[in-house]
Amino acid sequence: MRKIALEEHFMVPSMIPYWEATVEDLPEQLYRTVLERLSDFGERRLGAMDAAGIAISVLSLAGPGVQVEPDAAIAVRRAQEVNDALAEAIRRHPTRYAGFAHLPVQDPPAAARELERCVRELGFKGALINGQTRGLYLDDPRCFPIWECAEALRVPIYLHPADPEAPYAGWAGHKILSRAIWGWTVETATHALRIVFAGIFDRFPAARLILGHMGETLPYLLWRLDSRAQLYKAERPLALPPSAYIRRNILVTTSGQCAAEPLLCALSALGAERVMFSVDYPFESADVAARFIDTAPVGEEVRARICHGNAAELLGLERVEA
Ligand code: MN
Repeated sequence: MRKIALEEHFMVPSMIPYWEATVEDLPEQLYRTVLERLSDFGERRLGAMDAAGIAISVLSLAGPGVQVEPDAAIAVRRAQEVNDALAEAIRRHPTRYAGFAHLPVQDPPAAARELERCVRELGFKGALINGQTRGLYLDDPRCFPIWECAEALRVPIYLHPADPEAPYAGWAGHKILSRAIWGWTVETATHALRIVFAGIFDRFPAARLILGHMGETLPYLLWRLDSRAQLYKAERPLALPPSAYIRRNILVTTSGQCAAEPLLCALSALGAERVMFSVDYPFESADVAARFIDTAPVGEEVRARICHGNAAELLGLERVEA
């Protein structure tokens, strides 16, 4: 079935120093292959898309990008350069690529302005934010301009995993747990729950947040979140139970999760209109992801929603044929 994919990454030379630290553990050969694929916007990427039936890839910078830059003015300027480079790649293949903006979150008003420029002038479909930014999480009132802008433009924010600012004591002595195996899941789910419990979705009810990896475990936890939220005294009272915001304001993608159990959990917890196909290219195999969703134990109507219908609707993309 034809697909739209939403967590598909690229790299430009100026961003490699920011990215390198997150892949320091990869074997040298794998690092070089990944970098080569990230840097290619031509035949190699399009060939992988064709083989997997992916009609459109929404491209985003492989993180953390300028979000770890200490100098905010440099972050603002370099984010613009990244977005201009992405716009150029999209201009060369306008029917195959779309874009998520890279934002200098350490300066939220500038990040909001850049999001607006990217959506209005470059035609981007939203933003992808790589976790916390030098300790700043998106529930912080300083980030309100970003939410305000995304809500007004009716574009989603994709919250992508990244390292926490300081190492977490819980995986001391187990470095293997600190990133994609487990640590990024903990950090990203925590970030999303900070946003929910801070009442961001009471203040910005039309805001939409996308989580990868089938929702970073949240679909599995809805009942417990509601149940235990009644037990503890809230720092900020919410208008609705936590699960209601997760169901209303959060959508999830299948990136890096090619198994029926979490897919069926996300579908039954959130609904078929809130799950979207993604690969996480080139860190995951487009073939494996495509084969998984093409043969997953769901009805054809649901499969069509996951593969392209929901994404086309959310991002205002042209419908791709089945
Ligand atoms: Mn990714």
